Amino acid sequence: MIDLISDTVTLPDEEMLKTILSSSLGDAGRISADRRGEDETTNRLEDMAASITGKETAAFFPSGTMANTAAILAFCPPESEILVDENQHILRSEKICFEEAYFRMKPVCYRLAPEGGPDMEQLENLLNSHKIRLLCLEDTHNFSGGICIPLEKLQDAGEMAKKSGIPVHLDGARLFHAAEAQGVAPREICEHADTVMFCISKGLGAPIGSLLCGSREQIWKTVEIRKLLGGTMRQSGVAAACGIYALEHQLQRLSEDRENAQLVARALDGAKKISVSVYPQTNILLIHAEKAGLTGAELCKRLLSHGIRGMAVSETEVRLVFHKGIERKDAERAAEELWRMEIQLRE
Ligand SMILES: *Cc1c(COP(=O)(O)O)cnc(C)c1O
Repeated sequence: MIDLISDTVTLPDEEMLKTILSSSLGDAGRISADRRGEDETTNRLEDMAASITGKETAAFFPSGTMANTAAILAFCPPESEILVDENQHILRSEKICFEEAYFRMKPVCYRLAPEGGPDMEQLENLLNSHKIRLLCLEDTHNFSGGICIPLEKLQDAGEMAKKSGIPVHLDGARLFHAAEAQGVAPREICEHADTVMFCISKGLGAPIGSLLCGSREQIWKTVEIRKLLGGTMRQSGVAAACGIYALEHQLQRLSEDRENAQLVARALDGAKKISVSVYPQTNILLIHAEKAGLTGAELCKRLLSHGIRGMAVSETEVRLVFHKGIERKDAERAAEELWRMEIQLRE
């Protein structure tokens, strides 16, 4: 099977796992006056994350969901109005900040522009007509096909938020894919946000964890919240070691994932039944078969019978994610199978 359900299915390889054995471990939850835990490997990963994103400091979280949640809670009291797009992971998958039974934040939704990122005119209107406490952005944008926020727009959005006196949180679960696609350093993207979350457990191939980066003041608040949420870990260096290895060795190969997604998209040129929703900028490809009258769930099922596992992300669309473990030959085989399906759908 060609497993394109998500880049979270990547497994740590032997070289990555070996780094755990020589890592210096301790209790990351015992935090000293200088706000450092006792796990040296976790501290090292946090320092690397801060340096890569150009922020003062970073904190290691068990998941991206918890890191996003802590970031939002550190900026906003419950019931605050928060700007998100309606397809944003924070709103659609994580939810807890907006749940009636939990933090009751009020989502104020902006439209995504076709070129990626918010519709700026609408964003400005929403900032003027609501008492917004935080702007949340997502780069790359997962459910709309891994598209990037153009750097110039990111800057404009950052400036607009600053003018309105509100902070910006960037969900950069796939920050490094955005940087690779645009040929910029990650810190050039992060510059326009106050806090940034990125995952090591997705395309970077580490098993567990996410980093939240920002100012000392803000990250220290999130470390307190992390504790309340049960996210304080102990010998987290076991996971952090894999993250260090990932940041040192896996960034160079992200272009392969983008190229594989693009290869499959190009192969579908001329298909009449299966369509590419947006030409992939990064490692995510969205397809649909509306012209064959298939729903996303039906398309997903059919794909499975052709040996491809994807995920339905809307009424009609299926997401295929390319990642470590999917090689060029797998992408070529996926393209062949999609054509086989296309021919069947024409009959
Ligand atoms: C996966 C993902 C997250 C959350 O990460 P978890 O570690 O699965 O909680 C957040 N945002 C986006 C865009 C993601 O794709």
